[in-house]
Amino acid sequence: MDFFDFHHHHLGQFGIYNLDLFSDDNPEFFSIGLHPKDITKDFENALDWVKSRAHEPNCLAIGECGLDALVEVDSVLQEEVFKQQILLANTLQKPVIIHCVRRHSDLLKFQKIAKVPMIIHGFNKKENIATSLLNAGFYLSFGKSLLENLSLQSVFKECPDNRFFLETDAAKINISDIYEKASNIKAMSTSEMQHLIKQNLNLILKNE
Ligand SMILES: [Zn+2]
Repeated sequence: MDFFDFHHHHLGQFGIYNLDLFSDDNPEFFSIGLHPKDITKDFENALDWVKSRAHEPNCLAIGECGLDALVEVDSVLQEEVFKQQILLANTLQKPVIIHCVRRHSDLLKFQKIAKVPMIIHGFNKKENIATSLLNAGFYLSFGKSLLENLSLQSVFKECPDNRFFLETDAAKINISDIYEKASNIKAMSTSEMQHLIKQNLNLILKNE
């Protein structure tokens, strides 16, 4: 069985490939969204592109989209564009893959309007942030940082088994290395981990 890479930018890899802006690539599974760094005055155009492909059956999720305190895009505009994509996800009943940098506490109000699962990708924050996000109903996706960040490893250990995913994002690493590390931390085999991720995927795609 291949290792499912929940969020990545490596065309051809098994998992959810995140489409580049305005791309017409057609991978096996993909997510489509407007990243906060790509928001311009012309954002309606980009949102139209998102809407034009989001309904495709191999589009598994909306995103990555969200909030980023480090990009020079007005935060009110970021929130508006994020909200529009959550509403689209609600309409299509597809989960949302969230990009968030230093605005985690602001995510909570968006959880309230979402009628679909919300997954925070590349999660690498501390226990207290993880706890408040998990309590609010978010899922967490762990990537490269899990390999070396000891505090994140303990966050991952405590994360409920039905609330996480594993990913490479844009990093040049093997997804199998992430699975191996994650399996060690959770004291299970990599095939048990693969099974668990598959179950979690079913959970968010059926939105049960
Ligand atoms: Zn990404």
